[in-house]
Amino acid sequence: MTIIEAKIKGLLHGPPFHHTLYPMTEFLHKFACFDCQVAFKRQALEDASSGSAHQSDSDIIYKCPNCGHRMAFMGRNFAAPSKNDSSGWAAAKSLWEAGFRFVGNGYHDDPAFPKIKPDVNSFIEQNPEHKQRVGIKQQWKNYS
Ligand SMILES: [Zn+2]
Repeated sequence: MTIIEAKIKGLLHGPPFHHTLYPMTEFLHKFACFDCQVAFKRQALEDASSGSAHQSDSDIIYKCPNCGHRMAFMGRNFAAPSKNDSSGWAAAKSLWEAGFRFVGNGYHDDPAFPKIKPDVNSFIEQNPEHKQRVGIKQQWKNYS
């Protein structure tokens, strides 16, 4: 049977291989500076093989190379907004401050995170039990 035939028969559903076979040594996470609107991929634990898909913060502290602020742990699945997308960055910051992280395997029914600032407050209000709300409430300006 070819791949195409298998797809037609619905045999290839289920998680893509990289979800199960991703090498644990490359368990990297995204870290962001909301002031400078930059993000980097880094290791979050000294022992990267012990990482969890629902980790809420980092054991390792990274300082923003530009301003020196401690960088926020975002989770593996954070896609940084573009440099000029201030609304997107403001949304990411508000979500992070409310305890949301870009974590998990994506296999849940909770709504996706808003990408623009005007949608964030109602999203936070309506999703107190969201699967990706794994962190504590905190203020970016006090995070160090
Ligand atoms: Zn910075």
